Amino acid sequence: MKIAVLPGDGIGTEIVAEAVKVLNALELPLELESALVGGAAYEVHGHPLPDATLKLAKEADAVLFGAVGDWKYDKLDRPLRPEQAILGLRKNLGLFANFRPAICYEQLVGASSLKPDLIAGLDILIIRELTGDIYFGQPRGRRIATDGNFPGTEEAFDTMRYSRPEIERIAHVAFQAARKRSRRVTSVDKANVLETFQFWREIVTEVGMQYPDVALDHMYVDNAAMQLVRAPKKFDVLVTGNMFGDILSDEAAMLTGSIGMLPSASLNSSNQGLYEPSHGSAPDIAGKGIANPLATILSAAMMLRFSLNQEEAAQRVETAVKTVLARGLRTADIFSPGTTQVSTVEMGTAVVKAL
Ligand code: NAD
Repeated sequence: MKIAVLPGDGIGTEIVAEAVKVLNALELPLELESALVGGAAYEVHGHPLPDATLKLAKEADAVLFGAVGDWKYDKLDRPLRPEQAILGLRKNLGLFANFRPAICYEQLVGASSLKPDLIAGLDILIIRELTGDIYFGQPRGRRIATDGNFPGTEEAFDTMRYSRPEIERIAHVAFQAARKRSRRVTSVDKANVLETFQFWREIVTEVGMQYPDVALDHMYVDNAAMQLVRAPKKFDVLVTGNMFGDILSDEAAMLTGSIGMLPSASLNSSNQGLYEPSHGSAPDIAGKGIANPLATILSAAMMLRFSLNQEEAAQRVETAVKTVLARGLRTADIFSPGTTQVSTVEMGTAVVKAL
């Protein structure tokens, strides 16, 4: 089983090193190979996604990714910015389905800004479509407006679009995922205002007819944003487009108290995937040895499950993380009085020990 390891920038290198430690401790026939990506690759090769890195990722069964980005690259032309590496990998590997679970661990209920009874036992899955929507729709650009509220002035524009096959395939992914959970799908859209999402709603409904054992409901995105903080446990699987998914998955992440705890997976139609923590490169704490490596370690568990077909190993890693939390070990971001604060490396070592 071949894994491309792309640590990236900021805390990326620190947290990925811990996940690699955990993978190595499993004693599985894993072949890990590392390459530069993001700002780190730009510094050496002048591009955030060098050909060699892309080749390694394409040939691997899965990619373990840290994070990319730093404020110092904000002035670069868009194609050279570190974040373009993720977009390039998604595009080249055909990764269209992003899985972002938001799980509240029993020991961390107090870390949430919501009342404990709203959050205890939370286990929801947000599935975000990754290849379409306003992020990639053409045309886009800047021009002098010929109509609108201020004709004759400078304006910028993007295009929101989704094709039938794009919506169908993400809907199938959502219904299939729901079958392994509580068999409920909420499709989030803005069908009352946007043609694109009226189309989305029609197609998700059509696909849903092939899954009579899964309950489907539809919700407008503004309401979904409210319900996520009002009664998040009423959801099971949420499926939505690229932009709404971007926003709602971050909101759901914060429900659980720490972005440092949340893994993610992006899959293509042959289950090849890219696995990364939901958070970014956290330049504010990079190099201090205090980043929480658990989101990355849990991403490695998702990789074992979805791309490498190693369900038992995935569960072992998840159980080891719970054990470490139950022992009271905490990195700074999830620390609370009465628990023991540990460094990034100490947390990784504790997970290996628990394994
Ligand atoms: P961020 O997720 O990097 O950080 C937000 C806050 O959460 C910071 O205070 C940070 O210290 C904290 N945090 C994040 N991960 C943590 C961890 N594992 N342990 C402890 N604390 C953690 O988001 P940001 O600050 O908005 O962005 C920083 C950089 O990351 C930017 O350049 C951005 O473009 C990039 N970014 C990259 C990705 C990615 O690689 N997939 C995703 C989001 C942002």
